[in-house]
Amino acid sequence: MGQTKLARGHIFDIQGFSLHDGPGCRSLIFFKGCTLECAWCSNPEGISFAPEPLYLDSKCTLDGLCVDACSHGAITCSPGGAYGRLTFDREICARCSTYSCAKVCCSGAVRIGGYEISIEELYATINRDRQFWGAGGGITLTGGEPFAQPEFAHDLLKRCFDAYIHTAVETCGNVRWENYEKSLPYIDWIFFDLKTMNGSEKLQTDGLPADPTGPPFPGFTRSSISQILSNASRIANEFPGHMVFRLPLIPGFNDDAGNIHETARFIRSTGRNEVNVLPLHHLGREKYRLTGKTYYTGDFKIPGKDHLDEIASQFTSYGIHCYIGSETPF
Ligand code: SF4
Ligand code: SF4
Repeated sequence: MGQTKLARGHIFDIQGFSLHDGPGCRSLIFFKGCTLECAWCSNPEGISFAPEPLYLDSKCTLDGLCVDACSHGAITCSPGGAYGRLTFDREICARCSTYSCAKVCCSGAVRIGGYEISIEELYATINRDRQFWGAGGGITLTGGEPFAQPEFAHDLLKRCFDAYIHTAVETCGNVRWENYEKSLPYIDWIFFDLKTMNGSEKLQTDGLPADPTGPPFPGFTRSSISQILSNASRIANEFPGHMVFRLPLIPGFNDDAGNIHETARFIRSTGRNEVNVLPLHHLGREKYRLTGKTYYTGDFKIPGKDHLDEIASQFTSYGIHCYIGSETPF
C-alpha cells in the first residue's frame, strides 16, 4: 500500500518563540485565508486565500521593472510622475501564478505575502524549532483561519500530535462544523474567538465609511454569528481538551456592559470558564499600507486600564477566569 498523500496548503508566516498562544514557548503557524475579515485584524495579509503582492512605497525607486514584468497588466501608476505611485489590482493578483513583479524588484519594495508549503516541509521547520521550546511548548495554528483549510490543518495537527508535539489552534469559528470534526482528536488546546453577542445576522455598524476602492465592506466583520456560536457550543461540549475563549475588545463595537454580560452568560452556558480579553492595538497599521487595504479602525482609541479592570470584574462575577492581554497563566 502506498503512503497517504498529505495536503499542501498556504501560510504567510512562521514565528518561533511565542509565549502567549498556549503553554510554554511555541512556534506559530499563520494560515492564509479568513472568511470573517474583521475590520481591526492585525494580520490583514492573512485574509486573502491566495499569495498577494505587498508593496512598500517608501522603498520603491519607481524604475517600473515590475510594471513591465507583470504580463497580466495588474500594476498601474497614478498620473503625475514617471511611474508615480503603484497600484496593484488585487483581483488579478489573486489569480497570478508567476509573481514576477517580486522577482524583478531589486529594492525589496514589492514582495509576495504567503506561499504554498507541504506538510513535510512545514514539519521540518517545526521540528527544527522544537529544541528551543523547552518543556511544555509546542505549535499553535493561527492566521487567517486555520480551519478554512481543513485538510491541511488536519494533516499538520495529526503529524505533530503523533510526534508528541503539543498542538493548539486559534479559530474564529466561522467555518462549517465538518471543517473541525476530523481534527479535534489531534488538538490539545483551542482558543475560540468571540467577537460579539449582537444577535443580528450581519454584524453591521453605521459608523464606517464606504470604501469605493475596497471590497464591499459590510461592517466590522463579514459574517453572521449563528454559525460561530453553534460551533463554540459544540466544541465546548465535544472537545475533551483545554478551551479558552478570546474576546478582541473593540471600543464602540463590543465593549459595552450589555455585550460583556451576554458574552459571560454564553461562556457559562458552554460549561467552560476562561476568557482572554485582547484589547485593540494598532500594531498592524503598517500592514494595511502594504496590502493596500483600508484600516477602518485606525482612529479607534485603545481601551484604558480602568475599563479593562471593570470588564475583568464583570467576567469574574460570573465565575469566569478573565485574563487581560498577555497577562495569562499560559
Ligand atoms: S502578483 Fe502577479 S498579477 Fe499581481 S502584479 Fe505581481 S506579477 Fe502581476
Ligand atoms: S520593481 Fe520594485 S522598485 Fe521598481 S517600480 Fe516596481 S516596486 Fe518599485
